[in-house]
Amino acid sequence: MSEHQNWTLHTIATVSSPYKQKFAIPRQPGLVKHAYGVIEMLPEFSHPDFLRGLEAFSHLWIQFVFHETAAKGWSPLVRPPRLGGNQRKGVFATRSTFRPNPMGLSVVELVRVEHGKSTRIHVRGLDLLDGTPVLDIKPYLPYADALPEAAGGFADERPDTGLGIVFSDDAEQFLQQQRDYPQLREFITEVLAQDPRPAYQKDAHMDKDYGMHLYHFNIKWRVQNNKNYVFSIE
Ligand code: SAM
Repeated sequence: MSEHQNWTLHTIATVSSPYKQKFAIPRQPGLVKHAYGVIEMLPEFSHPDFLRGLEAFSHLWIQFVFHETAAKGWSPLVRPPRLGGNQRKGVFATRSTFRPNPMGLSVVELVRVEHGKSTRIHVRGLDLLDGTPVLDIKPYLPYADALPEAAGGFADERPDTGLGIVFSDDAEQFLQQQRDYPQLREFITEVLAQDPRPAYQKDAHMDKDYGMHLYHFNIKWRVQNNKNYVFSIE
């Protein structure tokens, strides 16, 4: 094997995210605008000079490791959920997490940079699990990165499930008490609008309760009459 075939990469930051488990994380960034997270620079990369000029940009590219699934290896063919889970595409034709190099790439909105004991970059719209290791951060350049004429293959359009939402009285009351999380309602609404249920369970007649963790909240819902019915939040 050539000496040039392997590289050593270093974690430069860690993601602090409201998504505490893989289930219900949106499949791409920007789909859930109220997903607020923090990229915490490691001490050796926390010098304010390293981010000088970053705040002039509205969006950032985050390169990261799919650390939760990296040990599971990769598959040459994958079944994109977008295609209902029954068509196969080549791994490099998809954004699958199971790749030869378990690296991901997400564009996120920059909210602000906080310089304290360590440097914290506040972002929103992320699709990343809590604890995700970050390998690199780069500014998003609209003149080079935004290509309105680009063809989107089998993922040509933003997914739209058409699912509405209803909160039970108990859930509504709980939301109103969460003064530290004033936008929790919007956040839950946007996450559930993505319909996190596995493709094979999306049959309208399937009456099943689901649960997800956002921040430290445990949210339970079921799908009824084309609506997400959130019956409990704890
Ligand atoms: N935007 C990135 C990309 O295209 O490389 C990620 C796309 S990937 C399809 C998005 C999914 O990755 C999320 O729905 C979540 O299930 C999963 N994910 C996010 N962070 C992860 C992590 N640290 N380890 C493993 N899976 C992760």
